[in-house]
Amino acid sequence: MTVNHGRRKFLWETAALAGVALAPGITLYELAQGRAPEAAAPATVRWGLLVDMNRCASNCNACVTACDNENGLSGGKAVTDAQWIRKIELTTPRGQARSLPMMCQHCAQPPCVDVCPTGASFKRADGIVLVDKHTCIGCRYCVMACPYGARSFVHEPVTNQKPDVPRGKGCVESCTLCVQRIDRDRIPACVEACATEGHKALLFGDLNDPGSEIAQRIAAVATTQVRADLNLDTAVRYQGL
Ligand code: SF4
Ligand code: SF4
Repeated sequence: MTVNHGRRKFLWETAALAGVALAPGITLYELAQGRAPEAAAPATVRWGLLVDMNRCASNCNACVTACDNENGLSGGKAVTDAQWIRKIELTTPRGQARSLPMMCQHCAQPPCVDVCPTGASFKRADGIVLVDKHTCIGCRYCVMACPYGARSFVHEPVTNQKPDVPRGKGCVESCTLCVQRIDRDRIPACVEACATEGHKALLFGDLNDPGSEIAQRIAAVATTQVRADLNLDTAVRYQGL
């Protein structure tokens, strides 16, 4: 997928260079959480995911592992560990096993943003919902407001932090759609890993572009938004659910 990121790339590179002399957290935040690139995130784009449940394998955890590796998460070894994507095993009314990857749904009307008292929860122009780690006070209102259980609170000091994915004890976090990759013209790590495993259950793209594969698939097949009754207009859609 090719996206016009010329200006964004310039901003990122500028931020990275300017940040050499800054405290690590400041530069890393700017890079990973997208505050600086936010102004340049195109409002015409809306990034989304289509999950094909018919292709998602119950015994596969590749997306979860890829997310952990990409974002420096510790892999759910302790109950308090952050998990940005998780697999939910379901049985259909016909008795068929289904495996549902669940992550932040990047709602167009995000309750997490509505309830945040500091503005730390915010939505970029391209629809990606993020948390500003500098202004998050850890009140966890957003954790309670999210209907998808998508947010984690960081209880312990963070080790093995990735250079462009800042995290910190006392902050809330959730799937960023791998914003650090998207802003470099790369697809999210989970999508890449799923394809590498041969399942191709995850499709990433621009929901607003009628010519994109994701928009064409959504137009052609029946897809579902989880808890569509809430009218949050999620950017993550499910096929075969
Ligand atoms: Fe916010 Fe939850 Fe929606 Fe993600 S899924 S945008 S954390 S309300
Ligand atoms: Fe906002 Fe942080 Fe409180 Fe969530 S925990 S509502 S992001 S200040």
